[in-house]
Amino acid sequence: MAGPIWVDNACCPHDCPSACALDIEVIEGKSIGRVRGSKLQTYTAGVVCAKVARYAERIHHPDRLLYPMRRTGPKGSGQFARISWDEAMDEIAARFDQAEREFGAQSVWPYYYAGTMGLVMRDGINRLSHVKKYSRFYSTICANIARVGFSIGTGKIAGVDPREMSVSDLVVIWGTNPVNTQVNVMTHAMRARKERGAKIAAVDIYNNDTMKQADIKIILRPGTDGAFACGVMHVLFREGYADRAYMDRYTDCPNELEAHLAIRTPEWASSISGVPVAEIEAFARLVGQTKRSFFRLGYGFTRSRNGAAQMHAALCIPAVTGAWQYEGGGAFFNNAAIWKFNESVIEGHDAIDRTTRWLDQSQIGRILTGDAEALKGGPPVKAMLIQNTNPMTVAPEQTLVHQGFAREDLFMAVHEQFMTETAAMADIVLPATMFMEHDDLYYGGGHQHISVGAKLIDPPGECRSNHEVLQGLGRRLNAVHPGFEMSPRESMAADAVAAGPLDHYRGGRRGASVPARHQPLAQLPQHQLQRNAIVDCARGQALGDDASRGCRGTRTGRRRHRHARERQRRDQSDRQALRRVATWRAGR
Ligand code: SF4
Repeated sequence: MAGPIWVDNACCPHDCPSACALDIEVIEGKSIGRVRGSKLQTYTAGVVCAKVARYAERIHHPDRLLYPMRRTGPKGSGQFARISWDEAMDEIAARFDQAEREFGAQSVWPYYYAGTMGLVMRDGINRLSHVKKYSRFYSTICANIARVGFSIGTGKIAGVDPREMSVSDLVVIWGTNPVNTQVNVMTHAMRARKERGAKIAAVDIYNNDTMKQADIKIILRPGTDGAFACGVMHVLFREGYADRAYMDRYTDCPNELEAHLAIRTPEWASSISGVPVAEIEAFARLVGQTKRSFFRLGYGFTRSRNGAAQMHAALCIPAVTGAWQYEGGGAFFNNAAIWKFNESVIEGHDAIDRTTRWLDQSQIGRILTGDAEALKGGPPVKAMLIQNTNPMTVAPEQTLVHQGFAREDLFMAVHEQFMTETAAMADIVLPATMFMEHDDLYYGGGHQHISVGAKLIDPPGECRSNHEVLQGLGRRLNAVHPGFEMSPRESMAADAVAAGPLDHYRGGRRGASVPARHQPLAQLPQHQLQRNAIVDCARGQALGDDASRGCRGTRTGRRRHRHARERQRRDQSDRQALRRVATWRAGR
């Protein structure tokens, strides 16, 4: 007879703004089955992408790395031999110490990225860098340009609650392809179309799958979004669609903007962007006539020269029409600014030495091949620990990256789930857990929810979490910091307690007219950090503080008993974590 299956929940850890809340079938506490989107979390709204729906294939894949290994052949040959964890960690620590003795601490460069978006497992590596004064990691590969462009316009990286797309009359999806990459945007946009007859407009450089579903399709030349936006705003001013009262109150230079746009006619914009004049004018009139216009701005169109300016120009359109003041109107790109976790424990902020060089993630090829400017005049990089990323495949300037990783004098430890191209170049390979095999805390870049994802099953083989690897290295390298002593749950609790009130933002200088639903968010109460909480921060509600809501199986009594025991154990572990954190804080 089949063993018990219950539905637990977690949060998708991928580098995707949706940070979907997941309902996961756990089979006999050992493996997972179907993965579905949680209906409790109203941005996820029961929908996840096809890739994560099939996560069981990934987590139980026969090619997963299961044991630590040492390279036995040339770099990249794929020849490795199994070793113990102690051997692996001792060797990494010895090679880091050797690099430090011979070339200084900054010759060690811990390198990571967003292979998981859990705060503990993603950012903990910075604590090792900070405490040991290793070269710091400057994260540049993805979002910086877009963030600069958005915050130039709004003052912070936050926008309208994305769920408001479902009450929009026009959803403009600009420079992103959510049909393929962020399905939840389409959930809410499609709801608006179905329930309100809203139009969906897509602005991009090719006829992608989102464009195919859009009512209005604007295909422009790469890197010309700013010109297109200026042409649109020219028409808005020229034809009386600009909301001058709104701009007088909430923007800082409407007259200068209008003067700047005087020569940015649709003809001018068309000559640069390739969008016909009639399309620019029609789009502008539709935006001007539709108060509830929601601009869902993506990253794609900012990945070009002047990318920040492209973002800023697109963002100015709803400011000119005053769309921000209407429910379902305004703009959204990312919510990075509403979260106020300070991550001081996770990242070891108190140990930061600002004289330590900050190496640019995107320049890894130049750095590893000895470019003095990229190295900031400091020592060569001689040793690395890499977690959560595969730079052999994704970092720019691939020829240099490959040359750099092929250096025989570069010691490299890679902590991975599979034998990636980067892991294949490593001296030591360490097997890593996946998100259902460890505890972590997640927040949504694309919505207003915080999720606590707890460990649901044991990892296979000898896989260890990022946090465990850092703890092991910290001990061997004499890196002293409370973050190395705490469990992931304790780290989460410490940094969430340290967080200030969460914030929300609706664009412009809102002052007294902020509707009640957009007032600052409630502080995340400590108890909401309990196992698998999903917290709707915009509404100040905990949507569920335990995952074991649904349970399908055959042995009901045993199942319930097991659940009760498991919950008891985790509750106790939460209480212990909170006590330890309180003790730690009292002793600071
Ligand atoms: S849509 Fe994004 S956040 Fe949601 S399950 Fe897929 S990858 Fe994860």
